[in-house]
Amino acid sequence: METGKMFIGGEWVASSSGETREVINPYDASVICHVAEGTAEDAEHAIAAAKKAFYEDGWGDTPAYERAALLRSFADEMEANVEKLAKAETLNTGKALIESEYDVYDSANILRYYAGIVTQPTGQTYDLNDPAVHAMTVREPLGVCALIVAWNFPISLAIWKLAPALAAGNAIILKPSEITPLSAILMTEMMEKVGFPKGVVNLVMGAGVTVGNALASSLDVDKVAFTGGIVTGRKIMCAASSNVKGISLELGGKSPNIIFADADFDTAVDYGLYGMFYNQGEVCSAGSRILVEDAIYDRYLEKLIEGAKKIKIGNGFEEGVKMGPVISKQHMEKVLKYIEIGKEEGATVALGGYRMTEPEYEKGYFIAPTIFTDTTPEMRIVQEEIFGPVVVIQKFHGEEEAIQLANNTTYGLAAGIFTSDNAKALRVVKKIRAGITWINTYGPVYPEAPWGGYKQSGIGRELGTYGLDDYTEVKQININTNVCPTGWFE
Ligand code: NAD
Repeated sequence: METGKMFIGGEWVASSSGETREVINPYDASVICHVAEGTAEDAEHAIAAAKKAFYEDGWGDTPAYERAALLRSFADEMEANVEKLAKAETLNTGKALIESEYDVYDSANILRYYAGIVTQPTGQTYDLNDPAVHAMTVREPLGVCALIVAWNFPISLAIWKLAPALAAGNAIILKPSEITPLSAILMTEMMEKVGFPKGVVNLVMGAGVTVGNALASSLDVDKVAFTGGIVTGRKIMCAASSNVKGISLELGGKSPNIIFADADFDTAVDYGLYGMFYNQGEVCSAGSRILVEDAIYDRYLEKLIEGAKKIKIGNGFEEGVKMGPVISKQHMEKVLKYIEIGKEEGATVALGGYRMTEPEYEKGYFIAPTIFTDTTPEMRIVQEEIFGPVVVIQKFHGEEEAIQLANNTTYGLAAGIFTSDNAKALRVVKKIRAGITWINTYGPVYPEAPWGGYKQSGIGRELGTYGLDDYTEVKQININTNVCPTGWFE
């Protein structure tokens, strides 16, 4: 792996400052390797290379079939190297290896999905009130797209962006999170190998305030696609105003998982755990507020605690482990701080609530699965995204209160509803202000279906045809078949 270098204009290059950054394994805080720490100047070089590839070297005019073939080859390459990629992901994030493997296969499917739809019919034609004019639309790539992503799913988040961006014919600059660059380096090597032309794919690593900001504020970037926190999202919106570039923002959430008394009980408990503790709770769509109907509240809580106690926590490489450490020391401290805030606010810690310090965990950033009860809607632990293995339980009575509580945050990313009454499920889902909803399931992501949030969970949609549309411009073409002067000024 070219760990000391970035990929700009088809070459692996060191940072212009010569600086590197340590990459840490969150399982035991050891240093895995050092990677190039890019600068704003490196970002400028990558933008220039992408611009050249798109405007001068013809990538923007490449037939869709050629782009699709490259995406398919890349998908094959990912699958052929599943072990290598998944191991790098688990080493860098601490997540269970089985999750990393799943992300590789899922990403290959997304690449193939976009390879498929990009050759499908597109555009519209119009029956105008002027029969002499033939009007139609075509979709064209935007140009240069900067893709800035978070650390929680480094492979998937990058692929969700680069697959539609490249399928649509854009040139890209990928900026992974500075703390999880390893899988991005491997994927870039694969894209180089399968033959994406020089400058079409660029990789710049480094801090958000330097590299990220240079990309978001550049006058030569046509779109910035971002996944990360709300505070950064606001900064990106401001930076993007420099040239009124396109933006898509996939931000955080505080998603409700609503459990009605008539739900299939065991399924609802299982998805309460899965929706919350998958990937240590470091999931933007985590069901981090479980709303339980009063009639089953005590029984549900008891089973949830019982289930959470059984989660196998440890080294992501160990067979059977389903929960690893949180991503970094800094993030662990943030999550622990929220646990303290919850206690100070008067909520009850029904389970966990501490850093795990037994010999197996002492070097890493492990937090015990934590369940808060006796919460009130205005508490910070109920309103703010914690992004770790901490869930708050809210009790409700009846549909109306469930809807009211569910919508009572500034976020609107996802929601789950568990009930055996289909009519009720549909009534409730229609009142929920969230972009992704699940009935009697929680968490699955489908390449075909759009992903994105209402309210402060973001702008735009990824995946599906909506995801491809977001990487294109729409051009109106009008053809006059009655070629003669207007005579307007005569
Ligand atoms: P973050 O906002 O700190 O960082 C995300 C990326 O932005 C990183 O690459 C970082 O270097 C870069 N960045 C930071 N400051 C920047 C700036 N001023 N200008 C440009 N780029 C900058 O987020 P994080 O801590 O890495 O990730 C956690 C957040 O991501 C959570 O809030 C989570 O909900 C969100 N997330 C959302 C989704 C979704 O699909 N909605 C998916 C995953 C994660």
